[in-house]
Amino acid sequence: THQVHIIGGGLAGSEAAWQLANADIKVRLSEMRGSGDMTPAHETDRLAEMVCSNSFRSDDAENNAVGLLHQEMRALDSIIMAAADEHRVPAGSALAVDREGFAGEVTKRIANHPNIEVVRERVDTLPSSGPTIIATGPLTAPGLAEAIAKVTGSDALAFFDAIAPIIHRESIDMSVCWMAARWDKGGKDYINCPMTKEQYEAFVAALNDGEKTEFKDWEKDTPYFEGCMPIEVMASRGVETLRYGPMKGVGLDDPRTGRWPHAVVQLRQDNALGTLWNMVGFQTKLKHGEQVRIFRTIPGLENAEFARLGGIHRNSFIRSPELLDEQLRLKSLPHIRLAGQITGCEGYVESAAIGLLAAKFAAAEVAGSSLPAPPLETALGALLGHITGGADAETYQPMNVNFGLMPPLSGPKTKKADRKKIYTDRARAALKEWLAEAEPLPA
Ligand code: FAD
Repeated sequence: THQVHIIGGGLAGSEAAWQLANADIKVRLSEMRGSGDMTPAHETDRLAEMVCSNSFRSDDAENNAVGLLHQEMRALDSIIMAAADEHRVPAGSALAVDREGFAGEVTKRIANHPNIEVVRERVDTLPSSGPTIIATGPLTAPGLAEAIAKVTGSDALAFFDAIAPIIHRESIDMSVCWMAARWDKGGKDYINCPMTKEQYEAFVAALNDGEKTEFKDWEKDTPYFEGCMPIEVMASRGVETLRYGPMKGVGLDDPRTGRWPHAVVQLRQDNALGTLWNMVGFQTKLKHGEQVRIFRTIPGLENAEFARLGGIHRNSFIRSPELLDEQLRLKSLPHIRLAGQITGCEGYVESAAIGLLAAKFAAAEVAGSSLPAPPLETALGALLGHITGGADAETYQPMNVNFGLMPPLSGPKTKKADRKKIYTDRARAALKEWLAEAEPLPA
């Protein structure tokens, strides 16, 4: 018999199971994929499948809040970070992974853990008792989503998230494209497809004219997550918008001209073999046929073969600042914790981080003690604080971790260039203190 029931074996649920199991607590992990159910974005029955990009974003723990979050999670023995490190593919200073290797690694470690029982089943109701963590993600199956909406007294909030296409490497014309990173930062890890002014303007026009997937009526008022805006929506905001966004040509010397192209499409390696490449920033809700037609006008991609096309999905979350306490418990049903994207954090890393914290809190509770929340100066604490009270419940929107969620720097005005380093140094000191308090070293 189990001591904690986790529902959902995604990024958050897998991390939570690992943390609890390593605290010697018996876990039941219910995952509906593999039992005949599937979400609209997942494609396999692996635990911790990444539904879109294969990137955990910046790994720079000195200057970037998500890089700092990576570092904090590693310090807490995160399975998501360990598997990511093991299956890393080149992506400059970003941490990108072979998605199959990564998810396979998480699945294997979880399945082999003596304290975890993975059960392939869909859960449609909220367990009436016993410590529970719900980590069913942005695509929670309808039955459970309804049950959650019932107890939270409000319909789950929602926004749209889009997926970018993936292309077979052998179908890319490398006599037109070249390998480089912007300003050659951290190597030459991206494939670049250059565009002239005429090509770029024709491309933007094609995006504007392209046939889009129609929204259903009830979907029409749902906003986009700004960090994941479809390219055709960006194109519709003005001719130059994409050139200041994902299609920026600056810092990329085209070896054939010796100059920066007017615009560029970048591709990032998606698997360890280097056979699949992801179109960076090219999430889209163009119809599939239109994607193939329009993207094949990109220089170098005339014969592109697509391993996966883009798409768009509704993404649900709850009004956490109002509904959850600082230990991620539902105020109205405190045996139930929520974790992952359903709490309104945004991103793979953030989802796993909240899964990690939910598990730490639950582990302390099962052991008859309690664990204080990590300080707001840390990336973990800042993210948690935002979800459980820092944010305005009325205007609550999904949020990536960032320095703006941390208490402002005090003391004399610091130079802008030094500020990030000061935030991350302060965070490391705060985490160390919290860890000493939370996990006293054995005598
Ligand atoms: P998930 O990883 O989705 O895990 C939830 C799990 O619960 C799934 O395995 C699901 O099968 C299972 N489940 C659902 N309902 C039930 C049920 N009733 N019973 C049993 N099991 C159930 N983040 C990024 O960082 N980069 C991206 O590029 C990115 N793209 C995204 C694209 C889309 C279309 C969406 C929807 C989200 C995207 N996200 C992205 C956001 C988010 O980080 C990921 O969705 C992330 O996987 C969330 O982690 P999670 O553990 O909360 O949910």
